[in-house]
Amino acid sequence: LTTPRFFLSTTDLARNRVTLSGECHHHLSRVLRARPGDEVWLLDGRGGVARASVERMERDATVLVVEERERVPEERPRMHLYQALLKGVKMDQVIQAAVELGASSIVPYICRRSLPPRGDVERRVERWRSIALQASRVAGRAYLPRVGAPLSWEEMVEALAGADLSLFADERGGERVASALRNRRAGDVVLVVGPEGGFDDAERDEMRSRGARPVTLGPNILRAESAGAVFLAAARCGCDLL
Ligand code: SAH
Repeated sequence: LTTPRFFLSTTDLARNRVTLSGECHHHLSRVLRARPGDEVWLLDGRGGVARASVERMERDATVLVVEERERVPEERPRMHLYQALLKGVKMDQVIQAAVELGASSIVPYICRRSLPPRGDVERRVERWRSIALQASRVAGRAYLPRVGAPLSWEEMVEALAGADLSLFADERGGERVASALRNRRAGDVVLVVGPEGGFDDAERDEMRSRGARPVTLGPNILRAESAGAVFLAAARCGCDLL
């Protein structure tokens, strides 16, 4: 069984004894039936990692003793996935996979063929953030990824110009992702994936004019909700992170 992992604040992580209550305690006591001596990893989501062990289980809390602390350096380059807004559960899948594949941020945006955001956008963003948190816990991410609120097309292309390298996935073809990222060890890389219906030509031109380069994800047309994971995996291979 993998060692259970929990996120807590940087202040709490600095203590020698940590008391977990609420959901964390419930998970440890009821789901995992933890016993004194069992190992737990604690993460602050900003590179602080500690190995702890269960000292005692109380009715409403688990008391842990920190055995060892470590600072994990942030992965470089940082990769930011910009995903055209997709329907309901597809967006959840994109976020889950992107967290596992190490994205530093996941930012939905609106383009001509994407669905206009419907319903309560704030609630959707909250939902995505809790999915990202849960996925980060499972993945044991030392750094919590940021999930942004949906950007307009104008805001999205603005971000392309600000990054050290911007690539957009284009089923019509382009460079290979791994070659575009070869020997890159620093900075911020933006990876853009289009909507189910793809980009239109004006959008391709505009992204190019902001310095973004088209890349291929292979000869098959991928679904928009799979493309982000493939893109991140290819990018990680390019910089020897996978
Ligand atoms: N509707 C389009 C396909 C869109 S695929 C068509 O039928 O031709 C949705 C998005 O996934 C695209 O905007 C692109 O960003 C990405 N994508 C899918 N397959 C890809 C590939 N083989 N290479 C690069 N990008 C791809």
